[in-house]
Amino acid sequence: MKKLWFIPFILAMSVLASCATGADVPASKAVNEKLNVSVSILPQKYIVEQIGGDYIEVNVLAGPGADPHTYEPKPEQMKSLARSRLYFAIGVDFEQAWLERFEGANPEMKVVNTIEGLQLLPMTTNEQAGDTSTEENHDNEIDTHTWTSPEMVKHQAAIITQALSEVDPNHAAEYQQNYDAFLAELTSLQADIHQTLEGIGSKKFLVFHPAWGYFAQEFGLEQVAVEVGGQEPSAQELAEIIKEAQTEDIRVVFAQPEISTRSAEIIANEINGKVLLISPLEENWMENMRKVAQTFKDVLK
Ligand code: ZN
Repeated sequence: MKKLWFIPFILAMSVLASCATGADVPASKAVNEKLNVSVSILPQKYIVEQIGGDYIEVNVLAGPGADPHTYEPKPEQMKSLARSRLYFAIGVDFEQAWLERFEGANPEMKVVNTIEGLQLLPMTTNEQAGDTSTEENHDNEIDTHTWTSPEMVKHQAAIITQALSEVDPNHAAEYQQNYDAFLAELTSLQADIHQTLEGIGSKKFLVFHPAWGYFAQEFGLEQVAVEVGGQEPSAQELAEIIKEAQTEDIRVVFAQPEISTRSAEIIANEINGKVLLISPLEENWMENMRKVAQTFKDVLK
């Protein structure tokens, strides 16, 4: 009974306390203060969000179903860039074609090259491509699908963390913490994929569009691509691929939902096999990597 006089006092104190914090950080302002960043493709959204958490808002240029080799940003997307402080570049084709215009749309936006320092692969992995690539513009093209390798994503994550911390130093400690946690997750992802693929009978897989070169490199698989330098193969190249598939007893042609599967179906028919869809562009990158590893295991067993 004696202590009841305290209650109004405590209430008054808590009202004062909430007024004080309310003045410092109004709730509505805190929401608007999210750091807006832009990325080219959906897997980058996932990766940047792992590090930026609730402090950032990610604007994706090539959204669901878009093919980053041919994508054309819409006028309203050019406007949306005006809100971004950072652009995380990853080197995909449409980005290379548009990056200057993106910078023109928002000169204040800092462009961060997340593949800086990575050892990149040439785009075509077919051995015979060297002597047949008489078509002009894809002789020296680089394989841009770096995000299919967790090791390369680790590198990108480090660059992203540094850029976020520089632009938003108030949350640098949180970004670092999130990065450390993400790195640990990536390491266990790598271990899981190695375990999934342990003991598979064949290393060689046939894919219409060569999006899995970095994945193959990291996990000891061999990608055989139907496309040569991003183009449909010639009749002779196609015949060679079909022959190779028959020799190697390959019965699956991997294709991706963002790109037409018509040619993949034709090859599948020729080799008495089937087309399986795997996408390198799903937004839940981590889950997709596990799913794809399992699909490779099922096919290459
Ligand atoms: Zn691609």
